[in-house]
Amino acid sequence: MAKSGISRRDALKLVGGAGVAAATGGLSLGLAQAAPATPNGAGFYRFKLGEYTLTLLSDGQTAPGNAFPNQGANAAEQPKYEQFMRDNFQDPTKFVNNFIPMLVDTGRSKILIDTGNGIGGLSRGVGRTLQHLQASGVKPEDINTVFLTHGHGDHITGLTSDGKPTYPNARLVMGEAEYNFWTTQANPSDSVKANLIGLKDRFTLLKAGEGIAPGLTAVATPGHTAGHMAVMVASGNAGLMHFGDAGGHFLLSLRYPNEHYLGFDSDKEQVVKTRVQMFGKAADEKLLVVGYHYFWPGMGYLRKKDNYFEFVPAFFNFS
Ligand SMILES: [Zn+2]
Repeated sequence: MAKSGISRRDALKLVGGAGVAAATGGLSLGLAQAAPATPNGAGFYRFKLGEYTLTLLSDGQTAPGNAFPNQGANAAEQPKYEQFMRDNFQDPTKFVNNFIPMLVDTGRSKILIDTGNGIGGLSRGVGRTLQHLQASGVKPEDINTVFLTHGHGDHITGLTSDGKPTYPNARLVMGEAEYNFWTTQANPSDSVKANLIGLKDRFTLLKAGEGIAPGLTAVATPGHTAGHMAVMVASGNAGLMHFGDAGGHFLLSLRYPNEHYLGFDSDKEQVVKTRVQMFGKAADEKLLVVGYHYFWPGMGYLRKKDNYFEFVPAFFNFS
């Protein structure tokens, strides 16, 4: 992987802009200056699924920080989780969060699933979905539909940029219960006001199992939020499920599916039920899966073991 002799970890540090001097070591100054603009691979990964063309988009990565408590909120189990991360070459004190929206081009329409943290996040190294969509050759006005898995800020805030719709021609689609939950809060967040309430007239609200667009179906996956929906994409015999945040953490949610939950999961009992069922379906049907917060590019397969699952990353393919 390291043509230039930079390890992936060092490259990630460069990208994050933190500790650049320390991370560069013997690198030339020119590379150190050029590195922060665009992550490795330009921030998108395009591949075919049946007849469709899919593009994973990196919204960026957070600076390294503690994985816990958010990535495993069961306090009593955290020492076990930390050990499992270390066994998998992950330092729990240097956890880097990813955010991975996905574009589906069916040939007839372009559907964007989630929108990232919005351009207000750029100073924190996130909010790059729009930039990476453009780098992939797609204009924001070309997007026909935007689907939101749920109402958290890291998924909806990219819907607007400087107060204007980022995707001016897109119809907006979201689960009905989820939309109603967020927009009827007594004190909605600024992001909910700007992106959900403010764009009310452009939303189409769905029930679970309904189609988002031909080939894309909303799948009820409650627990992270009450109305969370994953997305099933099917073309010919090929299938992929974008888990949204129902996927949890790519190591811990899969290794401890009967107990593990995130700090941001709103209903820990429900989210466990959802994950066991969803992971089981993905493993049984040998689906490609994408986790919104999995490690970039966040795509792979699930392998079922006795009472848990393993994530098998899909390999980059340059063709
Ligand atoms: Zn999220």
